[in-house]
Amino acid sequence: MTMKDDVIELDGSQGEGGGQVLRSALTLSMITGRPFRIVNIRANRAKPGLMRQHLVSVQAAAAVCGADVAQAAVGARELAFRPGRIRGGTYNFAIGTAGSSTLVLQTLLPALLFGDAPSTVTVSGGTHNPKAPPAHFLQRSYGRVMAGMGAEMSIELKRHGFYPAGGGEIVARVQPCAQLRRIELMAPGERRDAYAESLVAAVPSRVARRELECVAAGLGWAESQLHERRLPDDEAPGNALLITLDAEHVTEVFAGFGEKAVRAEEVAKQALGEARRYLASGAAVGEHLADQLLLPMALAGGGRFTLDRVSQHALTNADVIGRFLPVDIRFEAGERHSTCTISAR
Ligand code: AMP
Repeated sequence: MTMKDDVIELDGSQGEGGGQVLRSALTLSMITGRPFRIVNIRANRAKPGLMRQHLVSVQAAAAVCGADVAQAAVGARELAFRPGRIRGGTYNFAIGTAGSSTLVLQTLLPALLFGDAPSTVTVSGGTHNPKAPPAHFLQRSYGRVMAGMGAEMSIELKRHGFYPAGGGEIVARVQPCAQLRRIELMAPGERRDAYAESLVAAVPSRVARRELECVAAGLGWAESQLHERRLPDDEAPGNALLITLDAEHVTEVFAGFGEKAVRAEEVAKQALGEARRYLASGAAVGEHLADQLLLPMALAGGGRFTLDRVSQHALTNADVIGRFLPVDIRFEAGERHSTCTISAR
């Protein structure tokens, strides 16, 4: 029996115990050709098992590589996935709820780099969801680092989709890439731009104003750095606040998400808290980008970056990656921030 036939056994309740274990396993299984089985899917979440968004990730991964999948259904807590060859092409996936389109893309994009032809992937669903990367983060932050590693991909936000209506759409185009380049991100470098945007769809302007004023007060920013972005009413209702810090080596996007009965000040507090922690740390990479960089850096065979906080997501993702790829991922705590080193084992 070759190593490729060995089924990797994963426990979805390990560490963070969310959807990340499953998504990283799907991506890495597609790329390495190694089958896996997972039990206790999303065991630590309020509604455990596969939700629509995770099921679409499984179905999308299966469609892209012609995998054999056993037991994939909403609510399923176990799954077996045996991948085939990754095929580039034109794909359309509809989540059908406000489930996160960006998390489906997070699963597919690295794999499509290893396809046999260019791909165009359209995903419809939520584009700005709590606890998921907003589409703007994927474009500005994740997309920029991937480009720095030699990946040619574009991410186009066609329509915003907010909870609970969903209905957003993102189109990603990916060129095959023989090998990702190793990079180091040790400091953000010189600031190029910094701005806040409040996206509002059928939400009063005063809500956007209050969110932006909190950012101005919290970061000492000028009026010229604050933007209200009014979206078409048919993308409504919805609100998200985005704080973008664009520096020489890295762009970070911190988000807060509006919800019924949540005050504008609370939405701002969420994004501001993350932005301030990041700025105070002097690290290149924030908490969310950090857990999302581990997989591409491991595929590149190594890399290094400083991060403001080592999350449980990052530790769990590091464990899953180590099961599929011959890499060591180490986190070392420093005075103001930590350093992550990924090296070949
Ligand atoms: P899970 O909770 O396991 O489904 O994973 C959620 C994923 O979304 C992780 O990769 C998080 O880093 C990412 N994520 C959550 N919130 C944000 C945010 N505000 N900006 C960017 N990424 C996020």
